[in-house]
Amino acid sequence: MNVLDSELVVAALRRQGWEMAATTAEADAVFYNTCSVRQHAEDKIYSALGRIRSEKEKRPALVVGVLGCMAQKDQALIRARAPWVDLVVGPGQLHRVPGLVDLVLGGGGPQMEVSLDRKAGSRDAVAQSFESYDPDRDPAMRPTPFQAFIRTQTGCDKFCAFCVVPRVRGPEQARPPEAMVAEAKKLVAEGCREITLIGQTVNSYRWADGGKTTRLADLLVMLDAIDGLDRIKFVTNYPRDMTPDLIAAVRDLPKVCHYLHVPAQHGSDDVLTRMKRGYTIGEYMEMLSRVREELPHAAVTSDFIVGFCGETDAEFEATLDLVRSAGFKNSFIFKYSPRPGTKAFERQADDVPEAVKKERNNILLEAQAEVSLAGNRRFIGSRQQVLVEGLSTRDEKRAVNPGPDGVAQLTGRTMCDRIVVFDAPLRLVGRLVDVDIESAGAWSLAGTVAAGVADALPLEALRYSDEAAPPPPTLHSIKLPT
Ligand code: SAH
Repeated sequence: MNVLDSELVVAALRRQGWEMAATTAEADAVFYNTCSVRQHAEDKIYSALGRIRSEKEKRPALVVGVLGCMAQKDQALIRARAPWVDLVVGPGQLHRVPGLVDLVLGGGGPQMEVSLDRKAGSRDAVAQSFESYDPDRDPAMRPTPFQAFIRTQTGCDKFCAFCVVPRVRGPEQARPPEAMVAEAKKLVAEGCREITLIGQTVNSYRWADGGKTTRLADLLVMLDAIDGLDRIKFVTNYPRDMTPDLIAAVRDLPKVCHYLHVPAQHGSDDVLTRMKRGYTIGEYMEMLSRVREELPHAAVTSDFIVGFCGETDAEFEATLDLVRSAGFKNSFIFKYSPRPGTKAFERQADDVPEAVKKERNNILLEAQAEVSLAGNRRFIGSRQQVLVEGLSTRDEKRAVNPGPDGVAQLTGRTMCDRIVVFDAPLRLVGRLVDVDIESAGAWSLAGTVAAGVADALPLEALRYSDEAAPPPPTLHSIKLPT
């Protein structure tokens, strides 16, 4: 979500004549787009603000801005701790950044624009103070030129006891389906081949217009019909909204990736109750078995919090059991971090010692690594369709620059979001290729581009133009060796 917000702010500033600088020393303005989900993310920003202080003292005209969730959460506290900050702008006010920068440069002094607190007015008034900010895009700021995010909704109404997101990103507000389809078509015309729909709980998406209701499954049907688009992903899913129509849409629509991020958060019913997650492990497993039945090779991934308030050894063991048995492709594991303004912060003690959180974090990571390795090994000997994303981390670190025809170690992802590493000409970046999988680690697969595929593609620079290209391989979902 923050990558997308940054893309939009940069696009707006560019239209006003700004350009990206390579370093802060060359910059006339420095913006930090921030996250509040854990304390650690906020600490990093306060340290960065400490580092920029001397630069600001040397060059008082430098504009320093703090954007995003931390701006909404800490508001005036940011300038109290770092008075050299000129701009504090919440995630619901990002459209105002260019105007506010002008005010600062015009001598108007420090500026702060944040949305209403969730309890500061009626739902409508609060919702209106968080403005959706979507139409303007900047291709140069995307993860790659052929991948883009599209927001399905802003905010969140789930109010999990641990989570600050509903407070800092405001009430859940869906975007009209037509706006997203138009945005997708525009992105595809610019060369985009993969779109990832993003919402705090993307599968809760619901748009009612007259007598007609559009849900995520309906939106996927509309996007799947767009010519030139190869892949559609969506994150993050809320377990209770993993409805049969959505699972069927993933099964039946060829462009929709078989990749479902559905955070369980914990393996114990008591902890799930304390977390106010709204489901039991029995219900989660029932959802998972429906997914496995319809999409046998789909990758399901999860988030987990360890060391939540009052978590006992036995409760942690329940999470460990879930990780050992559920077959997640991977899990993102977090140590609980109390967040002001949440129910858990107000009513439950953060009583698990840091050392215990750390130990549980490591144990769970290790268990997941074993499961991930076993899951990935099943792919050895199969042929997978891969969207080539770019140089592998190894060759990126070596600053390899082989030219479009030179062979480098490249990386891409399968339909089920598995990372694949292989040697191939750089001109394959942005294309779908078939790769024969030869080996597997816990976090990636490795293989060789299937004979004929790489050679058949014509020479061309990194423009991803399709004019001279052969027809793309037909889309297929995941097949494993039997
Ligand atoms: N709704 C979005 C963003 C949630 S934050 C989504 O689901 O992707 C991403 C993850 O951070 C959550 O799933 C949860 O596992 C973790 N998280 C949220 N609040 C946390 C907290 N206070 N401490 C530790 N981890 C937290």
